[in-house]
Amino acid sequence: MYRGAGAVCRRPGAYPFGMDRYRIAPDTTVNLAALDPGDTGGLREKEARERLGELNRRLETLQELLYAEGKRKVLVVLQAMDTGGKDGVIRRVFDGVNPQGVKVAAFGRPTEEELAHDYLWRVHRHTPGAGQMVIFNRSHYEDVLVVRVRALVPDSVWSRRYRHINEWEHLLADEGTTILKFFLHISPEEQAIRLAERRDDPAKQWKFRRGDLEERRLWTSYMAAYEAVLSRTSTPWAPWFVVPADRKWYRDLVVATALVEALEGLQMAYPPPAEDLSGIVIPPAG
Ligand code: ADP
Repeated sequence: MYRGAGAVCRRPGAYPFGMDRYRIAPDTTVNLAALDPGDTGGLREKEARERLGELNRRLETLQELLYAEGKRKVLVVLQAMDTGGKDGVIRRVFDGVNPQGVKVAAFGRPTEEELAHDYLWRVHRHTPGAGQMVIFNRSHYEDVLVVRVRALVPDSVWSRRYRHINEWEHLLADEGTTILKFFLHISPEEQAIRLAERRDDPAKQWKFRRGDLEERRLWTSYMAAYEAVLSRTSTPWAPWFVVPADRKWYRDLVVATALVEALEGLQMAYPPPAEDLSGIVIPPAG
């Protein structure tokens, strides 16, 4: 069963299919095996795609407002196992938004310079400025996911990072950042299908990495690491959503809905004109 925190950013009646149930309430012990990656909320694909189209247009307007207002900051964190659909979400949910106000920051293996600093150093410089929306394609959470599963640092080091992360995200929120975090939850069966497609489809082979198979072998350890993340770092100021992601169309709909809901909750407004424009005549071009 999904359990949601419920109250944050909610407009009653706005979303009849209730995306709140995918939000993880603070201090919930998350058991991923009990959350169905194939859930479609009882919707059919056609209806979901139509709704996504509407949400794309609303998101376009909301992002323009964010940019025009130039005050708030929005950070979207995307985490998933390989083939979970981070790239698909970026393409389809943000379809139509103005690239001037939206940036994607992807985090791969840290460079030597990055490793020479604390693990939040490389992410902090990519956080959004006023009026901006930034999407993290992977994030600081890798430092308690792959780093934990692969034992890249001792337990005593990664285990204190949950606290750092909560406090750091609190700092960002205090300074005006709305943070939404999405774990795209796919089943190992669906991943096998997607990996085989990558292996066999010439248009997808460029994405195939042998290393992804190694990560797949560590599936159970990754799920334990994700459960710790979701149980310990879903906070009122930076909630996690566990998004059922076996059906791409439902995954996109859940992310788009949660995002639109949060942005509408900010009640943004276009700034007033700098001066009275009522008597201004547009002159002929000289
Ligand atoms: P993606 O799989 O997101 O499309 P890549 O194929 O470039 O992108 O993979 C990025 C890799 O970098 C992943 O295997 C991920 O686990 C790894 N990575 C990201 N952050 C860290 C980190 N802090 N320490 C070690 N490895 C990391």
